[in-house]
Amino acid sequence: MSTIIRKGQESRQRPESHVCRLLITIDGPAGVGKSTVAKKLAARLGYTYLDTGALYRGVAWKVRSSNIDPGNSDQVAELLSTTKLELAAHEHALSVLVDAQDVTHELRSLDVSQLASTVAALPQVRHWLLPIQRNFATEGGIVVEGRDMGTKVFPEADVKFFLDADPEIRFSRRYRELQTDDQRKNLDDVRREMTLRDDRDRSRDVSPLIPATDAMMIDTSNLSIDQVLDHLTEVVSARQ
Ligand code: C5P
Repeated sequence: MSTIIRKGQESRQRPESHVCRLLITIDGPAGVGKSTVAKKLAARLGYTYLDTGALYRGVAWKVRSSNIDPGNSDQVAELLSTTKLELAAHEHALSVLVDAQDVTHELRSLDVSQLASTVAALPQVRHWLLPIQRNFATEGGIVVEGRDMGTKVFPEADVKFFLDADPEIRFSRRYRELQTDDQRKNLDDVRREMTLRDDRDRSRDVSPLIPATDAMMIDTSNLSIDQVLDHLTEVVSARQ
């Protein structure tokens, strides 16, 4: 079961009527800058932002708190049949509610990241999350980010981007990000966790992390967030 709650978007400035409200997908591995760029691009365009990784993390949180075997697809499917996952979209942020409990701030840890990628390899989980993701994007005017947005969830998207970067650069970006949280990890832990997750995300049978054939590839290794953002905005503006 799933619900979508939209908050704080009524006051969003409506664009001119001749401007198309596009469906934009941004895929790529962890630590590539997807979330920051997707969020800023959505804000710049006055669009909704959807972080689909947060949904997989919400499922992982539920699996962990239920003490079931995350590799047992029947048990996980059974658990999801009685789970309520809600997204509350605010102006520039997204909250995840699992069975009415706001778990947003518990979703970024390394262990939830790992578990998210384990459950994300289960076809039952991907199938369960498909309508939730698609329902969020029925009106256009949305930037969605994840691993299979351009390939599986929104193959008909108006503009598709695939961001990538040198792995060592991605590891240190994520490492720096985690230093601002309570959980101070060392770089080796982050490198190990991300390598494992990358490998699993790229090699799974269902919806592996691969660029859509019609995605624009962007290497963010030597680009600042603002440079990536300006580039994406330019591409999108040409399509509106
Ligand atoms: O993007 P984020 O790092 O929050 O995603 C957590 C995990 O969720 C990923 O490592 C991946 O396994 C899974 N995921 C996915 N498909 C998506 C988004 C996330 O498989 N569209």
